[in-house]
Amino acid sequence: MRARLPSLFLIFVVCFAGCGEGASDLPDCAAIKQVVVTDIDETLTTLDAEFVQQLLDPNYDPAMRAGGPALLRGYAERGFVIHYLTARAGTWVVGESTTCEQATIDWLKLHDFPWAEGRTWLTLPDDVVTGEDTIAYKTAAIEDRQAEGYTYVYAYGNAITDIEAFVAAGIDLSRIFTVGDLAGEQGTQAVEGGNFIDHEAEHLPLVSAICTFK
Ligand SMILES: [Mg+2]
Repeated sequence: MRARLPSLFLIFVVCFAGCGEGASDLPDCAAIKQVVVTDIDETLTTLDAEFVQQLLDPNYDPAMRAGGPALLRGYAERGFVIHYLTARAGTWVVGESTTCEQATIDWLKLHDFPWAEGRTWLTLPDDVVTGEDTIAYKTAAIEDRQAEGYTYVYAYGNAITDIEAFVAAGIDLSRIFTVGDLAGEQGTQAVEGGNFIDHEAEHLPLVSAICTFK
């Protein structure tokens, strides 16, 4: 016991000078430009058909994969910007007059997904896109932000178009997570079980906070 005292003392002295490096010494999140990007349809919702159903019936609430809101809130709380990147056409209208963009925001808020001015983005194409055009649109949406200095750290999707856009934008396969029928496709990381509950429990503890909100 006696032999250990000096080292404990040393730790105390060293810590007095620097062990406080933690949350309080992290930079202000306002200056942080690290991003998590996610597709919406069949990634956050259970099926593409869920949003189609809402287009047919504006009162319909598209079904959601469990655990998605908690996962994305976890990223947001750690300081990441959340980029919702969807191929839902900006020209579509839900009901009489609700824009597709507003209906999407309303759904995100209703289900407690992170939504905060400046810390979350929603991008929709100006018009309907399919296939190769979807890849080009999603790639460009990411590259536009990268050109502003943002770094895309993690990505979530369910379709080949998501994977190809994420890869084209330079996101590493080890940080691209895929859910649903194509989980794990093309060397991406499979989110098992069709929901985000286990993924959130396993993955989020590995993700450190990158800033603090001041
Ligand atoms: Mg999708």
